Amino acid sequence: MQRPFNFSAGPATMPQEVLAQAADEMLDWPDASGRRCGMGVMEMSHRGKEFQSIYERAEADLRELLAVPEHFKILFMQGGGLAENAIVPLNLSALRATEGAPGMVDFVVTGGWSEKSHKEARRYCQTHVAASNAAGGHTSMPDAANWSLSTQASYVHVCTNETIHGVEFQNLPDLKALGSDAALVIDFSSHVASRPVDWSRVGLAFAGAQKNLGPAGLTLVVVREDLLGHALSICPSAFNYQTVADNQSMFNTPPTYSIYMAGLIFQWLKRQGGIAAMEERNKAKAKLLYDAIDQSALYFNTVQPNCRSRMNVPFFLRDETRNDAFLTGAKAANLLQLKGHKTVGGMRASIYNAMPMDGVAALVEYMRAFEKTQA
Ligand SMILES: *Cc1c(COP(=O)(O)O)cnc(C)c1O
Repeated sequence: MQRPFNFSAGPATMPQEVLAQAADEMLDWPDASGRRCGMGVMEMSHRGKEFQSIYERAEADLRELLAVPEHFKILFMQGGGLAENAIVPLNLSALRATEGAPGMVDFVVTGGWSEKSHKEARRYCQTHVAASNAAGGHTSMPDAANWSLSTQASYVHVCTNETIHGVEFQNLPDLKALGSDAALVIDFSSHVASRPVDWSRVGLAFAGAQKNLGPAGLTLVVVREDLLGHALSICPSAFNYQTVADNQSMFNTPPTYSIYMAGLIFQWLKRQGGIAAMEERNKAKAKLLYDAIDQSALYFNTVQPNCRSRMNVPFFLRDETRNDAFLTGAKAANLLQLKGHKTVGGMRASIYNAMPMDGVAALVEYMRAFEKTQA
């Protein structure tokens, strides 16, 4: 069965073979040796040996795939990226604060998501915008050499891929080299597992799963151990990273089915050749689409080429009155969910790991055919 290609920004398309495996295991989950246990994954105790094995394999596979060093904890939480906008300052804002004083956090604002993170953090700590690309409509990346970092910041927050505006960091900032002792916090929700991470530059990374890791409901947090244990006293226990880490993410019931599905994605990623192989594919997919946009007389993308996202590609039609016709034709050509985010307008193609090259090629072919009909 050839399903339509789904360009949703999230929850997003998943590999068909993973969905088929989950369907096969839905009623009666088999262990690694193929022995069925009489229960579906949703029905298992999170403390039973069956789910424990699912959990441990998922964590080990993710650690291997992303090359997460031993001195980082991998936490499987709930609440999504938006909850992390509060959970991170609740846990880390006091890292370098003087006793009793509110902590200071630096934000680099590069689009809708880092803007939201900044707004939420202000409820818990002092904040400072160290750099912003808002003046140019979030279409460039502020050069790290010009960031105005605070001397006392506990951490610096950056969103390494802006899902709405289509701006991506091609390299993580090296805060030490910029003269800052702050920890780097990255929101990598929409490009996690699409490229390697330089963990030597990172203090904490978080991602909602529903873009590139699996179903909604699971939030991945990767945190350096020395950053644990500094939570504000008002931090909810279930959101205290130290508590979550001490209980192997089972202080409360974790999102078991979402962890299982993410685990199947991790096994699929390993079969694809791992993150380096995915990165090569993602580069090729993005190049095909951006080249088609740049070479066309009808479509355009406003993001500077050196910071264009490989995952989320916003584009516009020069004649906006043709937007509905474009989307209707796309749907008829089995190309789904291409409408742009409401704050940006136009179109957006999200081409995460699970979008095959064939899907991007089909989109490009449709775009060219549509353009011809407009002549
Ligand atoms: C989708 C997204 C979020 C929000 O995730 P929720 O799970 O809806 O809270 C946060 N940050 C980025 C970069 C995202 O793409």
